[in-house]
Amino acid sequence: MRFHKTNLSLEQYKSGLNAGDRLILSKAITLCESQLPEDELLASLLIEETLGQSEHSFRIGITGIPGVGKSTFIEAFGLYLIQQGHKVAVLSVDPTSSLNHGSILGDKTRMNELSLNRNAYIRPSPAGKQLGGIAEKTRENILLCEAAGFNVILIETVGVGQSETAVKHLSDFMILLMISGAGDELQGIKRGLMELADMVLINKSDGNNLKASKQTKTLIKQALHYFPANTNQWEIPVETISSIDQTGIDNVWKLIERYQKITKANHYFESNRNKQNLKWFQEGLSNQILRLFLKDPTLQAQKAEIESAIVQETLSVKSGIQQLMQSFKK
Ligand code: GDP
Repeated sequence: MRFHKTNLSLEQYKSGLNAGDRLILSKAITLCESQLPEDELLASLLIEETLGQSEHSFRIGITGIPGVGKSTFIEAFGLYLIQQGHKVAVLSVDPTSSLNHGSILGDKTRMNELSLNRNAYIRPSPAGKQLGGIAEKTRENILLCEAAGFNVILIETVGVGQSETAVKHLSDFMILLMISGAGDELQGIKRGLMELADMVLINKSDGNNLKASKQTKTLIKQALHYFPANTNQWEIPVETISSIDQTGIDNVWKLIERYQKITKANHYFESNRNKQNLKWFQEGLSNQILRLFLKDPTLQAQKAEIESAIVQETLSVKSGIQQLMQSFKK
């Protein structure tokens, strides 16, 4: 069967993904990111087809302040993984991309060599204003990449807002990139960013920076002692690397392989994914209900009236909600 606006059938998408065709993968992602109601059915049939194809993939979230070296690291790490026989997809969650200033993650030439490699696939962040919507789409993009045979998924985000928490819920493992001398506060030691990390890497540990990096490593290790113990029998490693000199990159993957072994043996990997799936279901459902709600002009008008009554204190928040819910149920 053929669908409006797309020139591919479900079968063509399916066989393209099965063959690992990157062009078809791009088209499939575009279809699933489409806001057009007429694309919705085909998109959900396609996502349905991805079921059961994620078991052997590993999803790695990568965060850190702008300039810490995320794209340089991903280029080095991605190429290393490809040398080891993996297929690497790079996705990003970047809510800033919908602001007029353009994307923090996308406004420079990034990952040149990796983007040219046929065993790599790089896709910028889905457009959107709401982090929830962007994350929802990114999740579908992960599934599509996995269906196309990409077994290591790198999900990049800037460590400046809520997006790293969203990425944590999309990932099996989270890497926090840091550098020496950038300030603890800024880099998230006190902001809870470190609580999300399964591994901390001190990047730019090269040249004159090496000594300072080693000191930072010791400090971060000490700081981690004050964090609650993990439930997955994993002790968070802190390592120095240089993405430019490509030192320590092989060790990063060795440690991740160890993590996979431990968390697959103790079933944390599986139960974490199950939890994430249910979370995505609940969040997706809430988002849909909210969209349905916000689409109705009568409800919108009533909502605006109720909001002004709440501000003027002529109506309580509780009654305001009740009134709107009654109209919604009608
Ligand atoms: P992002 O904003 O986190 O993606 O950071 P980039 O990857 O764009 O890197 C920011 C700057 O740091 C660039 O000028 C890189 O060349 C530089 N950089 C990245 N990794 C390293 C490294 O390991 N060592 C050194 N010396 N510089 C690096």
